[in-house]
Amino acid sequence: RGMIIAVDGPSGSGKSSTARGVADRLGLRFLDTGATYRAVTWSAIEHGLDLDDTAAVAQRARELRLELSTDPLNQFVIADGTDVTAAIREPRISERVSKIATNLDVRKELIRRQREIIDEAQPSGGIVVEGRDIATVVATDAELKVLLTADQEARLARRGAELAVGSVTAEQLRDQIVRRDADDSTVADFQVASDGAVTIDSTDLSLEEVIDVISRLAKE
Ligand code: C5P
Repeated sequence: RGMIIAVDGPSGSGKSSTARGVADRLGLRFLDTGATYRAVTWSAIEHGLDLDDTAAVAQRARELRLELSTDPLNQFVIADGTDVTAAIREPRISERVSKIATNLDVRKELIRRQREIIDEAQPSGGIVVEGRDIATVVATDAELKVLLTADQEARLARRGAELAVGSVTAEQLRDQIVRRDADDSTVADFQVASDGAVTIDSTDLSLEEVIDVISRLAKE
């Protein structure tokens, strides 16, 4: 089979750009697992569900038709026929996604789908999978496991640059990230270094440098 590279880390660690860059460099497919949790959040809101109704939200996760692009250079997400690529990045989704991600039946369903996508990518050489629990849960058999970390200050600065909008103040942004880190930490297996994982602290490294390090490790 092809190669599986797991890239885990908190929000703002640069894991998305990094994982996409590695996939592009090595000619592999790319899976952003966070997008699956975001798409279910979008759909649950769209259906007017009470996000605390875990059974209803889990049912929505199972019924949702989800199409995720695994092309690192052309990422899109289609949920029940609607292109939600941009919508799932909106603050209203980021603020609620942790609640959806702590729903264990949602996780079960999405992990099943993520594994399907990983299997489908094997004939084309392999895949870089990015998330929180890839090395520990989704793809424990990955050839290379990377845990990407960065100082909270560096993560805040990156998220700020990413959003680069006037509507959110630096203070609000800080609150959002600190809150999501706290929410995310309540889910088991998050951000735990798995056996054999390489931890890379990206605080003082450029995106290109991190991509170089991981690509080199992948070729060893
Ligand atoms: O990576 P991203 O910020 O898009 O992830 C959105 C949310 O999805 C995370 O804050 C986390 O709650 C959840 N998530 C998860 N497991 C993953 C990927 C993301 O629970 N493998």
